[in-house]
Amino acid sequence: MADIENTTIPEIATIDEIRDEIVDVKTFYLTFDQRPDKKPFAFKSGQFIMCTVFGAGEFAVSLPACPTNDRFHITLRKIGKVTNALHDLKVGDKIGVRGPFGNGFPFEDIKGKNVIYVAGGIGLIPLRSSIMHVMQNNQQFGRILLFYGSRTPRELMYQQNLKEWKTAPGFETFVTVDNPVPGWDGSTGFVHTLIKKTDIPLKDTVAFVCGPPVMFNAVIQELVERGLDENNIISTLERHMKCGIGKCQHCSIGRTLVCTDGPVYTYHQIKTLGEQI
Ligand SMILES: Cc1cc2nc3c(=O)[nH]c(=O)nc-3n(C[C@H](O)[C@H](O)[C@H](O)COP(=O)(O)OP(=O)(O)OC[C@H]3O[C@@H](n4cnc5c(N)ncnc54)[C@H](O)[C@@H]3O)c2cc1C
Repeated sequence: MADIENTTIPEIATIDEIRDEIVDVKTFYLTFDQRPDKKPFAFKSGQFIMCTVFGAGEFAVSLPACPTNDRFHITLRKIGKVTNALHDLKVGDKIGVRGPFGNGFPFEDIKGKNVIYVAGGIGLIPLRSSIMHVMQNNQQFGRILLFYGSRTPRELMYQQNLKEWKTAPGFETFVTVDNPVPGWDGSTGFVHTLIKKTDIPLKDTVAFVCGPPVMFNAVIQELVERGLDENNIISTLERHMKCGIGKCQHCSIGRTLVCTDGPVYTYHQIKTLGEQI
């Protein structure tokens, strides 16, 4: 739960470093100015924060860092007014941060299970934190598999991490692109076709799936047809958010408020909400 003042008044953070990930997507590493004791920003994988770009506005963003052992950062695609303003900022500039908000991933419930991650494009951003957490605690889990697809090799996110995950002990990493380029020696085709070709565990297994709607729906169909329980498929919903604390109802879907009840839901819950991904 966020400190009470962090729910409404932004904390000030300085941008330490900016990395270009792929076209229109940058990672911003942040240090919190008002934490002279260097107390880390505490959060759970799967939670989000509200970020202010002063003079432009606020947006919701996932927390891709591992909560226990990583540099705090956010990764943003520029898409509209505020995210464009963020992309114009430089190292040393300041932004506001409220949160963390939302429920987070259910790690206690998945201990001892096999874990399958399936991400498409920038859908890897909200899953990165969970992947790092599971990787660092891999003795607590069964098989750990990551299926990741992007349109082209240039659009693969977190390329340094992908290299590390490929050789990490106990980690099975499968990467595919829709459109290969000369020099690409990896798999080609949609990410659900890669799952189809792979011997995946189904018993005592939980799958985390994030990506664009067409990819999400194809992956869900494949996993459900293979026999994975809908309650064991987990995703995060992105809805336009304003307050982040359940007051304004901007992100309501039927009975649920994505900012407080979510953003993490099982596929069974998403279906029950009648929600289209
Ligand atoms: C919980 C959560 C986590 C998120 N995490 C990330 C992240 O890690 N990285 C990232 O790049 N983006 C993330 N987003 C999306 C990000 O919040 C929006 O892209 C941002 O608010 C756009 O602001 P803007 O002013 O630049 O664009 P706007 O001018 O507000 O919008 C530009 C266009 O995008 C659409 N849009 C904006 N926000 C959303 C949304 N939430 N859902 C659907 N359509 C939307 C608008 O309808 C409009 O068509 C997340 C959203 C949520 C709710």
